[in-house]
Amino acid sequence: MIAYIALGANQGDPRMPLEAALTALAALPHTRLEARSSFYRTAPIGYENQPDFINAVARLETTLEPSPLLDALQAIEEQHGRKRTLPNGPRTLDLDLLLHGDTRIRTTRLSLPHPRMHERAFVLVPLAEIAPDLSIPGRGRIRDLIERIRGQAIERLSD
Ligand code: AMP
Repeated sequence: MIAYIALGANQGDPRMPLEAALTALAALPHTRLEARSSFYRTAPIGYENQPDFINAVARLETTLEPSPLLDALQAIEEQHGRKRTLPNGPRTLDLDLLLHGDTRIRTTRLSLPHPRMHERAFVLVPLAEIAPDLSIPGRGRIRDLIERIRGQAIERLSD
């Protein structure tokens, strides 16, 4: 199954936890890291008095089911991140499961596709870099979705 993961961080040098998370994703059992986007810089949404975020998206080929994959993402967050004190506030590492094949589920613990991914430049722009022909179940083509978030500032960082 193909799964897409969003990575974000905004404390210290946020590239370090993101690189560590990518290494940890590549080391997951029954999983291969197939692609990763560039790093992008975005302004915080919600609680705005905090540093800019660095974001990226990764594509995994995995036989892990959605729930054990989310367990693994949360373990990586614990290992390489720090707990937040405010909702939408600063954090050292955030990993979201965006898509898991065409799975559509909505439980208290896990919603797929990720319920806010289609309206966020910091997800759609890196995702389009590695999956330009993707369609998001229930939401449509990434090419069309990205047209609607043109107003959100996002800057691709050089390698
Ligand atoms: P956040 O702190 O915004 O990353 O949200 C984490 C919470 O969202 C956790 O309690 C998860 O159980 C829940 N959640 C629901 N759907 C997802 C998803 N697709 N990916 C990651 N977390 C999810």
